[in-house]
Amino acid sequence: MTGAGGAGRYAPSPSGELHLGNLRTALIAWCFARSTGRRFLMRIEDLDRARDAGSGGAQLDDLERIGIDWDGVAVLQSERGADHERAIARLADAGLVYECTCTRRDILAAPSAPHAPPGAYPGTCRDLSEAERAAARARIAPRLPALRLRVPEGTVAPEFDDVLLGRVRGDIDDFVLRRGDGTVAYNLAVVVDDAAMGVDQIVRGDDLASSTPRQILLQRLLGLPSPPEVEYAHVPLVLGPSGARLAKRDGAVTLAELRRTGVDAATVRSWIAESLGLAAPGERVSAAQILDRFDPAALPREPWTWSPAATS
Ligand code: GLU
Repeated sequence: MTGAGGAGRYAPSPSGELHLGNLRTALIAWCFARSTGRRFLMRIEDLDRARDAGSGGAQLDDLERIGIDWDGVAVLQSERGADHERAIARLADAGLVYECTCTRRDILAAPSAPHAPPGAYPGTCRDLSEAERAAARARIAPRLPALRLRVPEGTVAPEFDDVLLGRVRGDIDDFVLRRGDGTVAYNLAVVVDDAAMGVDQIVRGDDLASSTPRQILLQRLLGLPSPPEVEYAHVPLVLGPSGARLAKRDGAVTLAELRRTGVDAATVRSWIAESLGLAAPGERVSAAQILDRFDPAALPREPWTWSPAATS
């Protein structure tokens, strides 16, 4: 699908250096955008103050080293708070927000509704009276209540056609919009920011596919573009030698670590291209060559298992 006028994006959380899996997803997102005439935008998702180690700058440097370019300056999600709050206020005005004082333990201990998906919010705080709500607030003070979406009665969980996964279905519950510590939740921020940035092509790891029905519901409730105007492609993850999702414990997996073992960024790019079927084993390819050869229909649908031995 061509998308002149639209935009793709990569939206890393700055919680450490990017590893091979992140770089691969970013390169795929870049190819998707550039091959369809879209702009490619960058957003650092730095809302999680507790976790974020402020590695956004280093991440951008690594993306450039791999050969990825983007339009304009990277957007910092932490600077978009006013828009996030406006969206929450809009939902609240429509009666679609309620306070929740449940702890994780409360949620686990509560009996779940019949047919509810595992881990779904059981609705404990959904229908409290004003007096009950005030008592609950007082009970948890100085902690503040979280805010949850009141999923309208009769809502059918949105389904969507993913470029790589095909038809995706998922469950939705009354998910969190703003945490008790004031941090706006990922699902809310990502929907508001993608729309504000004009993003109509979302390419990211397939671990996020199950969040997408929630995000589509929010798009609809906020009157923002949603599929089919917005295209989704969830990319298979990279696994480490143990078969689990690639992680720091798997050895040298970031550009800096690999550089210390004598592997340069161009070599890493070529490994990634080879894993995507876009380079022959050992062939050195530029980002432009990868883009030239890119064909979404031919992308692997299985995770790539990476091991140092397989690429050295
Ligand atoms: N910030 C998220 C992550 O790094 C990705 C969000 C998205 O692409 O929607 O996992």
